[in-house]
Amino acid sequence: MSLPAYPVEAVPSPSGPPAPTPPGPATPAPVEARPGSTAARGHLFNGGTTARYRAVLADGVGRVARRAAGVERPFTGITPAELAPRVSGIDLDRPLDDTTAALDELDEVYLRDAVWFHHPRYLAHLNCPVVIPALLGEAVLTAVNSSLDTWDQSVGATLIERRLVDWTAERIGLGPAADGVFTSGGSQSNLQAMLLAREEASQAAPSPQARAELLPRLRVLTSTAGHFSVQKSAKLLGLSPDAVRTIPTDAQRRMIPAALRREIERCRRDGQMVMAVVATAGTTDFGSIDPLDEIAGICAAAGVWLHVDAAYGCGLLTSPTRRHLLDGIERADSVTVDYHKSFFQPVSSSALLVRDRRVLRHATYHADYLNPARMVEQRIPNQVDKSLQTTRRFDALKLWLTLRVMGPDQLGELFDEVVERAAGAWELISEDPRFEVVTKSPLSTVVFRYLPTGPGRGLADGANLYAREALAASGAALVASTTVDGRHFLKFTLLNPETTLDDVGHVVQLIAEHAGRYVHERTTADLACRVG
Ligand SMILES: *Cc1c(COP(=O)(O)O)cnc(C)c1O
Repeated sequence: MSLPAYPVEAVPSPSGPPAPTPPGPATPAPVEARPGSTAARGHLFNGGTTARYRAVLADGVGRVARRAAGVERPFTGITPAELAPRVSGIDLDRPLDDTTAALDELDEVYLRDAVWFHHPRYLAHLNCPVVIPALLGEAVLTAVNSSLDTWDQSVGATLIERRLVDWTAERIGLGPAADGVFTSGGSQSNLQAMLLAREEASQAAPSPQARAELLPRLRVLTSTAGHFSVQKSAKLLGLSPDAVRTIPTDAQRRMIPAALRREIERCRRDGQMVMAVVATAGTTDFGSIDPLDEIAGICAAAGVWLHVDAAYGCGLLTSPTRRHLLDGIERADSVTVDYHKSFFQPVSSSALLVRDRRVLRHATYHADYLNPARMVEQRIPNQVDKSLQTTRRFDALKLWLTLRVMGPDQLGELFDEVVERAAGAWELISEDPRFEVVTKSPLSTVVFRYLPTGPGRGLADGANLYAREALAASGAALVASTTVDGRHFLKFTLLNPETTLDDVGHVVQLIAEHAGRYVHERTTADLACRVG
C-alpha cells in the first residue's frame, strides 16, 4: 500500500498566528506527512489530511451532482433480483484502495438505480426533496462528529439543539416550562412520548406490586388512521396486546370526539386506565388532522395525557397562511415533529417536545462514566438525560443552517405550495370520471382509485395494484398504495414544490392506461375462455 496520494496541509502551531484563509480554491503546500504515517492513517480526518478531505468530498459531491442533473425518471425500475447479485458480488475484504474506483462501484450498486425524491414525479411516500443549507449542515456535522449525549462531547452543538427545541416549542405554543429533545424519527418520538405517559400514569401506583397490576390495565387511544408506531410503542413498553384502542373517524378521516369520550368512559367502567390519547395532526394516509382543540378539552376533563403526533403536519408550524389548522396543538402534553418530512430536511431529523420539562426525568439514568448525578447540580447540560439514545447525531445543525440561511417563512412557503398543489390534484382527479377520490386533505396527500366500468367492474382492486407496480417498473413515476375499508387505493403524497399539475395529470393518465390495460386483458381473456 502506498502513502496517501494527496498533499498534506500544514498544521499551524498552537502558539503561532492563525492560519490565513486561502483565497479561492485551496492549493495547500505539500509538507511532510507525520512521521510514521501509513496509508491507513492517511484516511483519518485530521488537521494533516484536510487536502484529502476536500478532494474526496468534492469528488463525491461531484458524482451526486452529475447524477442528480441527469435524472430523467424518479426510478429505473430495477428489481431486487437484478440488483442483489451486484451487491453480493463485491468482496468486502478486498478494498479498491482508491476513492474514485469506490465511487465508480457505488454508482453501479446505488446511485444509478436510486430512488430520487427530488424528481417531480416521485409522489409516493412522505419523503421530501431536501434544501441545500441542510445538506451543508449534514457535511459539517459528520466531519466534526459531535455527539449530543453530553456537553463534553458536543459543547455548542448542545446549545444549538436546545435553541431549536425552544424555537419549535414556542411555535407550537407549549408554554414556558416546555422542553424536548431531537430523535431519530417520528417512531422514536412517539415511543418516548408513550414511555413518559406510561410513567406519569404509573405515578398512581404507589408500590411495585400496584404498578405490576396497573400495567396490563393501561390503554392508549388513537384513531383508526393513527400511525402504527403507536401500536409498536405499546408492545415495546410491555403494555397488554390490546392496549391500543382505535377510535373511529368521520368521513374526512378525523377522530370522532364523541367516540373518544365514550371510549374513555368505557375504559373507566371496565377498570382500565387511559394513559394517553394520541391525536394525529396529519395522518400518514389521508393527511387528515384530528380536531385537536376538542380532543384537548376531552383529555383535560378526563385528566388524560394528550400526545399530538404531528410528524407530518408539523410543516404547518412555519406556514404563513395555514398555521391555524394546528389550533389546539398548544394544549398537548407532548408533540412529535418530523423535520425530515415537512421541513425539507434530510433523514434523520425529528423531535419530541413536552409541555412540562420535568416529565423528561423518566428518560434519565445516571452513569458514572458519562453523566453522574453531580453534573445536574453543576448545571452541565447533558442531553442524554432526556434521550432514549446515548451517542446521538447533531441532526439539529441541518435545521439550524436552514433557518439561518432561508428562515422559517421560506420553509413555510414551500410547504404551502405542496398543499396547494395537492388541492389542485384532488380537483383534477375528482373531475376525472375514470377515478374515485377519497377525502380532501388539508395537507398534501390524495387517495384515489381507478374504477373500471362495464364487464371489468369487479376488477378494481387488481387494476389499481397492477397500475402501481407497472408504473414503478417503468420508473416513470412512483406512487403509493394503501387500503381504504378493505379496498386497494392509490396515494399521492406531494412534498415537492417542483411537481406541477401537468406532472400530476401525466401520472394520472399513465395510471389510467396501465389499469385500463389490465382490465382489458382480463375481460378479453375471460371472454375468450367462455367462447372457447
Ligand atoms: C411518518 C410518521 C411517523 C413515523 O415517523 P418516522 O420518522 O418514519 O419514524 C409517525 N407518525 C406519523 C403520523 C407519520 O406520518
